[in-house]
Amino acid sequence: MPENLGAPAGDEQIRPWLADLGLPGLVDMHTHFLPERVLHKVWAYFDEAGSHYGMEWPVRYRYDEPTRLRVLADVGVAVFAPLVYPHKAGMAEWLTEWAVDFGRRTDGAVPTATMYPEPGVANYLAAAVRAGARCVKAHVQVGEFDPRDPLLDEAWGVLSEAAVPVVVHCGHGPLRGRHTGLDVFAEVLARHPNLVAVLAHAGMPEYDAALELAERYPRVYLDTTMVGVGFTERVAPLPPDWPSRLVPLADRVVLGTDYPNIPYSYAEQLAAISGWADADDRLGREFLRAVLHDTPARLLGLEDGEPGI
Ligand SMILES: [Zn+2]
Repeated sequence: MPENLGAPAGDEQIRPWLADLGLPGLVDMHTHFLPERVLHKVWAYFDEAGSHYGMEWPVRYRYDEPTRLRVLADVGVAVFAPLVYPHKAGMAEWLTEWAVDFGRRTDGAVPTATMYPEPGVANYLAAAVRAGARCVKAHVQVGEFDPRDPLLDEAWGVLSEAAVPVVVHCGHGPLRGRHTGLDVFAEVLARHPNLVAVLAHAGMPEYDAALELAERYPRVYLDTTMVGVGFTERVAPLPPDWPSRLVPLADRVVLGTDYPNIPYSYAEQLAAISGWADADDRLGREFLRAVLHDTPARLLGLEDGEPGI
């Protein structure tokens, strides 16, 4: 009989649930923190979600920055990657500088970076890695760039060599972009097979293609961001055999949430993941521990003994 690991019904139940599981805290590889001015523009976009996505998207954790950080700590997140991304040229370098600084001065955050196909991208990424960036975001849909752009070739090489994970939003969900599609990103992996790539949203809606890439490349991971929650299941449902498909990839799945820009509770994402662990007794508690803590901690290079680890 599969183990019943339970699930937190609300955010206030997350900490006791983690304690029952014996987990020291969550490591979330996919959250968003931005300079306030940029964040308010992102929220304004979500306010118009009806026209962009054809569905409402009320941002659940729409608070000022200190409150957003406190809520994250309160739900038991020990470490998180605050990801930034540009929508045009000329933004990625200063966003990266902001994200490196934010990660250094903020409890629980790690320094991060982002990229865009433009002259100098390999240089500012290398500088960010030297300055301690532990995670990079590449947003193919919002940035509307081709990840195969020759201007990015050296940048992918820098990240491969440094083994710094890059969270890549290259799937068609929630919107198809000019260069989205896992087949497109597969060409980057073919050229840079050692890249530590985390497929954001598990490749949504191309879950099968994401699983295949993870099977083919040992350094490809899937993040759980928005995967399997009610909001997403209505538009991009998981294949029915999803939990069993994860069995051979149990150490290649990492917690991600899109906090704070989600239209449901943090607990709901955790409940979805717990549901997969419950559904196949080859997953269970060990899988949950790997996804929520061990694997993202390893990817972010966190050492035992760091606070919360
Ligand atoms: Zn995101």
